[in-house]
Amino acid sequence: MIAEVIVDVAAHQTDRVFEYHIPDDLEVEIGSRVVVPFGRRKVQGFVVAVKKSSDFTGQLKDLLLVVDEMPPLTPELVALSSDLARQIFAYRISILKTMLPGVMRANYRKILLPNSPRAEQMPLFAGDPVDLANLEEPRLIKLVKQLLNKGEARIEYLVENKAKKKMVSVYYPLLSAADCQEILLETRKTASQQRKLLADLAGDFAAYPKSREELTGLGISSATLKAAVSKKWLQEKDQEKYRRPTKPVAPSRPLDLNDEQAAALSRVSQDIKGRVSQTFLLEGVTGSGKTEVYLQAISQALALGRTALMLVPEISLTPQMVKQVQARFGQQVAVLHSALSEGERYDEWRRIRRGQAQVVVGARSAVFAPLDNLGLIIIDEEHEGSYKQDNNPRYHARDVAIWRSRYHHCPLILGSATPSLASRARAQKGVYQLLRLKKRAKSQPLPRVDLLDLKHVQFAGSQFDISCPLAEAIQKRLEKKEQVILLLNRRGFANFMLCRNCGFVLKCPNCDLSLTMHKDTWTMQCHYCGYQEAVPEICPNCRDRQIRFLGTGTQKVQEELAELFPQAKIIRMDVDTTRRKGSYDKILTSFGQGEADILLGTQMIAKGLDFPNVTLVGVINADTGLWLPDYNASERTFELITQVAGRAGRADKEGQVMIQTYNPDHYAIHLAQKQDYELFYAKEMRVRHAGDYPPYFYTVLVSVSAKNEQNAAREAFKIKRQLQRELRAPTIILGPAPATISRLKSQYYYQILVKYKREKHLNELLHQIQDQAQEVKKYGLTVEIDSEPERIM
Ligand code: ADP
Ligand code: ZN
Repeated sequence: MIAEVIVDVAAHQTDRVFEYHIPDDLEVEIGSRVVVPFGRRKVQGFVVAVKKSSDFTGQLKDLLLVVDEMPPLTPELVALSSDLARQIFAYRISILKTMLPGVMRANYRKILLPNSPRAEQMPLFAGDPVDLANLEEPRLIKLVKQLLNKGEARIEYLVENKAKKKMVSVYYPLLSAADCQEILLETRKTASQQRKLLADLAGDFAAYPKSREELTGLGISSATLKAAVSKKWLQEKDQEKYRRPTKPVAPSRPLDLNDEQAAALSRVSQDIKGRVSQTFLLEGVTGSGKTEVYLQAISQALALGRTALMLVPEISLTPQMVKQVQARFGQQVAVLHSALSEGERYDEWRRIRRGQAQVVVGARSAVFAPLDNLGLIIIDEEHEGSYKQDNNPRYHARDVAIWRSRYHHCPLILGSATPSLASRARAQKGVYQLLRLKKRAKSQPLPRVDLLDLKHVQFAGSQFDISCPLAEAIQKRLEKKEQVILLLNRRGFANFMLCRNCGFVLKCPNCDLSLTMHKDTWTMQCHYCGYQEAVPEICPNCRDRQIRFLGTGTQKVQEELAELFPQAKIIRMDVDTTRRKGSYDKILTSFGQGEADILLGTQMIAKGLDFPNVTLVGVINADTGLWLPDYNASERTFELITQVAGRAGRADKEGQVMIQTYNPDHYAIHLAQKQDYELFYAKEMRVRHAGDYPPYFYTVLVSVSAKNEQNAAREAFKIKRQLQRELRAPTIILGPAPATISRLKSQYYYQILVKYKREKHLNELLHQIQDQAQEVKKYGLTVEIDSEPERIM
């Protein structure tokens, strides 16, 4: 038999498959991860086909080894990788690796091992074997060469198996419960540990086998267990233990649906039963009970013996949401998102692959969860930009979900209070089916929303961030012991440093961006590349002392809140306070339990939170994203305000929302105030039509980057000419132009935007450009193709 393999070789990115002969003693299937000889090296790859014969006339090389017990990829995922690669201009290998949990992506590595006892005493080998890919210091490289020359070290190729299972000792009784009782009677009073063990065996026999952890928890020492094994009371076995990211929660029962919910559910369930791959757009105002519809639809799929996949944006993948799903489906649920430890993700992923979990809740990349026999896919908050991955492979979870729904003949629900224009337009055309929930589930009124025009208000504090009306409203809620959520979509203290003498603005040395002042760490930080330096005391340019820190961020607002409401407890939630694992959960739990009065945060607090005691939501500055040079800046602003407004008044207390803005007349803001999605949709569609923007046109962005600006520009113009030769009106080719942020991480960016309605040959042409890009790589040029970019920088 012969295997077709996609190899993982960074410098040799290509979608070409290589054929290898499968030795008789290896069990190879589609989706197996394997090691193969490649030139003079050994590399890792994935089997994408197995066949009987080959057209190749020479001698095929043997496949060397199969890495995993079970092929990590299913035939479905292998087929998906092929279609997706064509669609999004990514190499198949990058997609195949994205489908796996991080620990399984590790490649075959060159590792230096000691070859003589003398070498082993060298500090170079103090820890693990030396990974040659990580050696950068010239001094060390020289040392390695010397060692190799003298024969004191050798190079080996190893699969770096980071994916480790957690094994635990488990004890099986070799006696009956009655035997145990008898022995217990005969055992001396002084052997108290042994008596404890025997008593537990006699009394709790049904609960065995028990793990070492459980038994030592009962106060039985390891020595006693060892003795019990040698006396043949117990047998010790090594067993794998899954690292579970979630704790069991109390079960919940389905709610009685209201008419709108029931109608939506019955429409979806018809297609679950009928195995129809229909996409539904579930448009429901915040608090309308979309989640309950999802849960009951999942139940229906499970009842038919099928599985279900539910995607939630990373930032709203709150413990609240996970608990709701767990409460309904218990142990059947697996969770996949980036806050899990590597071990947890590996274990959850394997529970899914082995068919031990039937419901998956996860963030973007969970769309590749290896579930078999899907009966339903759900994408909650479908409008979220984070469903598109913004580096390679640039896939959109929605498109992958549509592909999988066709493969499995199952429905897909896209849910949102503020659907993306693209999805809503498709529903309008009948490509998706529109389902609406117009009222809130508990028939609470939508909160009252006021706009505060920052041009005409008085400010309450010394930082000019909080207006008097907002401060008064906060004060009232605090007096009533109710809670407040405040949104400011900008972290740090001040977002730029300006010299009043010479006008100098401190910028990142690697990026064309001003540095943000962080007061807690007293650093200036680049929010793009992470560069940091100490806060300057004098202007680095003219050495004057008159430097000012302008603009605002969550840290500054927190200071102002503390000054205005000295009695209130304030929690801040942004990237800086949630870096540590588990801190996100901790903040939300403590706020939910009423341990703080005010939750101040960036967009991560805007979505999906359901706190009954929150009655006031304030938006500190609604304009932060409004003037970004992006065709969808209005859509993003409308959606963020509507979402955060939906956090107020979710229980029986009436909610209030206050939005501070310098642009109260901008349609995105005053329609968000009215929470009028329909009007916003109509207005924004006109704007898009006038500007030839999506969803009227498809877009693809070609960006060229290089350390040297002229090189990037030259290559971009070359690509433009190539596109111009082949493409005709109504296709529009814009650029090349420097990106809005023209320099990032020391690379200059030039961009070409292609807008098109129908272009038969465009895909092929872009693939050609992508292949040429491989050749110019050696001149330090990077060409990237982004189909339907979320953001045109
Ligand atoms: P959405 O996701 O649409 O914003 P949620 O699913 O969070 O709304 O629902 C809002 C609240 O209404 C939740 O507290 C939920 O438990 C409750 N709810 C949903 N459906 C019903 C129902 N049929 N009867 C009573 N309460 C419901
Ligand atoms: Zn930077």
